[in-house]
Amino acid sequence: MRITSYTYPWDLAYMGVETALQRMADDGIDGVDLAATYHPIDSLSPRAGVRMFSDARGAVYFPARAERYGRIRPHLHSKELCAVWPEAAAHAEKAGLALNAWTITLFQPWIRDAHIDCARRLPSGDPSGSGVCAANEDVREYIAALCDDVVDQFGIDIVRLEGVIAHMFDLDWLRPRALVTLSPLARTLLNVCFCDTCTANARTAGLDPERLRSLVNEAINAEIADGPSDRSAERTAGLAADPELRAYVTRYVQSSIDLTRIVRDRLGGRARISGNAATPYGALLGSEAEDGLLAQFVDVADQIAMHPANPHGNRRVTEINARAPAPRELSMLFARVQVNSASTHGQGNAEEQMASDLDEAATRGADEITLYNYALLRDGDVADFVGAVRKAFPAG
Ligand SMILES: [Zn+2]
Repeated sequence: MRITSYTYPWDLAYMGVETALQRMADDGIDGVDLAATYHPIDSLSPRAGVRMFSDARGAVYFPARAERYGRIRPHLHSKELCAVWPEAAAHAEKAGLALNAWTITLFQPWIRDAHIDCARRLPSGDPSGSGVCAANEDVREYIAALCDDVVDQFGIDIVRLEGVIAHMFDLDWLRPRALVTLSPLARTLLNVCFCDTCTANARTAGLDPERLRSLVNEAINAEIADGPSDRSAERTAGLAADPELRAYVTRYVQSSIDLTRIVRDRLGGRARISGNAATPYGALLGSEAEDGLLAQFVDVADQIAMHPANPHGNRRVTEINARAPAPRELSMLFARVQVNSASTHGQGNAEEQMASDLDEAATRGADEITLYNYALLRDGDVADFVGAVRKAFPAG
């Protein structure tokens, strides 16, 4: 069992890069998942006194080389923080740690600010405040060039592609103020993109995006007008019966799969790619069509990342993976592992939660456990976690 740990470059800077990486190796961690790019964040680390880091619109955190990019040029954070990456790469090697590039893809508000035509568009036509569209050619070129750049400079083991499926319109630190209840159907529909690229591609495929946009907007408005009601199921079934809408949504998911494939092709095997296999559109697409998309997500990645809080999804993906011509490695993410804190999902205390999560990892056949997030935890939490993993997986 390999254990890696997500880590922020700013936390390595606070702790001292060499000291932090050596401690990580001493703690029994095998690899560091260092953020190459990041989305908006306020994060609090207890490691070097209480330190707080803030970044409002996201940035690139390694010294990306502008001349290698197209229209979208990387928005670098400060020189001091970008200097952490080369230092970390050198010390990781000395400490015997594998180096992985944790790469946020679409949740990059700075791209949206600089190039509004790259923004995801809500069915209303309004641009997302925080995300760009996976179908956009400039976005694809940028992400492929970025992954190529970090791999070329630092010799990465795994590129962890985070968020190739568009994040929900109200994710995380940037969210609209909404005083109305948005049903699961309304949330799903608000997540479908109607940017110029998506609508043009749909027209080329013989679909009528304007009709679909009206259909989707009518449904969102009706869901909001009804409030929580049992009419959602009927409305969902009505939309799912529209083959054009299913085709449109399928194409949208496909654009995220294509983006991953473009990155894979650009890297040409110089680093492995890890990603999720999931879509938020099962209710519209039906489980058979969704399984087909999940199989494609499995096919374009080298490793599939799972979360212990999603046993149903994990079972489904591992079954699809087992049927694949070349099954991929499986990874399980563990977040918030303090044994004296409340568990973040399910019932029971945190220690029982940990045992149950490790059991889920074992049941699904995970070969790798990733810990989230090294410097946001206390020293003792990391040691306890590694101990629990080694006890649960004594063979490796
Ligand atoms: Zn789009």
